[in-house]
Amino acid sequence: MYKNKKIFVLGMARSGFEVAKLLGDGNDILITDIKEQDKKNIRELEKRKVSFVKSDKPEKLLDESFDYLIKNPGIKYNHPCVLKARELNIPVINEVEVAFDYLDKSTTIIGITGSNGKTTTTTMIYEIMKKALNNVYLAGNMGIPLSGMVRDIKPNSYLVMEISDHQLCDMYKFKTNVSVLTNISPVHLDFHDSYEKYKATKKKIFNNHTHNDLAIINYDNEEAMNLTKDIPSTKVFFSTKSNAEAYFKDNKIFYKNEEIIDVNKLIIKGKHNYENIMAAILVCKKFNIDNSIIQDVIYSFKGVEHRIEFVDNICGRDFYNDSKSTNVESTKIALQAMTAPTVLLLGGLDRGHSFDELIPFMKKVKLVVCYGETKKRIKDFCETNNFNCLVTDNLESATNMAFVNSEKGDAILLSPACASWDQFECFEDRGNLFKNTAKRIGEDNESI
Ligand code: ADP
Repeated sequence: MYKNKKIFVLGMARSGFEVAKLLGDGNDILITDIKEQDKKNIRELEKRKVSFVKSDKPEKLLDESFDYLIKNPGIKYNHPCVLKARELNIPVINEVEVAFDYLDKSTTIIGITGSNGKTTTTTMIYEIMKKALNNVYLAGNMGIPLSGMVRDIKPNSYLVMEISDHQLCDMYKFKTNVSVLTNISPVHLDFHDSYEKYKATKKKIFNNHTHNDLAIINYDNEEAMNLTKDIPSTKVFFSTKSNAEAYFKDNKIFYKNEEIIDVNKLIIKGKHNYENIMAAILVCKKFNIDNSIIQDVIYSFKGVEHRIEFVDNICGRDFYNDSKSTNVESTKIALQAMTAPTVLLLGGLDRGHSFDELIPFMKKVKLVVCYGETKKRIKDFCETNNFNCLVTDNLESATNMAFVNSEKGDAILLSPACASWDQFECFEDRGNLFKNTAKRIGEDNESI
């Protein structure tokens, strides 16, 4: 617990605000942000004797009198204020590390990390556990920051947490009881500067583990296997190729010799999701959850919003919203997941990236409809590679065009391979517009 400490909170956002609230009263807190903040939030902090200063040079406000620097996970390790804290020997921690200290020690923590699949796997685990057990909470990278709910968590609860590498950077005492590593691939290297540093950060999900803690690891992912060779945790594995505690064979997912899931009955698509399901099953088996509950949740799971999310079957076409796909890598995964002839909506912010890597994955694509800043380059890409292509200005007209040029039995997939910022505030807005347009198409064509 933190008492009578002088604490510098760098970055307000949601987690900075919640941790300042948690630590307020009893400690002397200064919170800074580069941006102006909501007046209501500032007043709420002031009531707890927390002062807010808007500053683009927060390092000027930091001196040796501070006991801790709590860094927002999005701020880089080489920010001048973080470097100054290190120079002054001020410990740099983050919101989760602080909240962990306030957590009742009877809480069982399930932490999920990995380069891809964190949100999907976390959501599945949370949904199943919530149905099977009492006092199950979701916090961390998704949902409410842990600091915002830690005081409400009852003894003997279960806490399911998606934990990003950005968060793991500044965690030391934090410890899970069960850790899931979905996979490791070279992402976020701009943040970590090197792949080695990124991997070392991911390994921290197993920090402070002993043999009594469980590590759930992707057997097919060489990087994950190498990284976890020497951890002391009890390890269990999942695999789509080999025999492991959870494995995929003949279109079924097994736990040991028990058949748990028939993948033909799934709403969500793609082999990558079999991995997410297997990881979730291994967590649930640790808590002896009935297969019937696992099956109920997994068979009705429509995917997490904006991630190859099944929208609906509208006039005989399956609409999928994969607006979270902001790069070619995730569009490749979405295309691999499609089984029907597909109309693909591509486009968005132009970062100058090539679309060539999509070529081997375009077999199911009967038509590309492109829009937004990248439309011209996508059109050239399609023409060069003999893919049918239509060009338009915006997503709404692209969705209408996709519908008009499709037929019953087709899939219509928004997996844009570009960021949304040329025409939207965020990928969520883009996905919502797609879903609303699809719904309107359904209403306008009820008789089809
Ligand atoms: P994260 O939270 O790690 O970003 P999500 O669950 O939000 O992951 O999924 C984002 C995208 O990553 C999905 O649309 C899909 O393209 C891809 N993905 C999901 N699960 C996996 C997996 N197990 N392996 C590889 N890619 C995946």
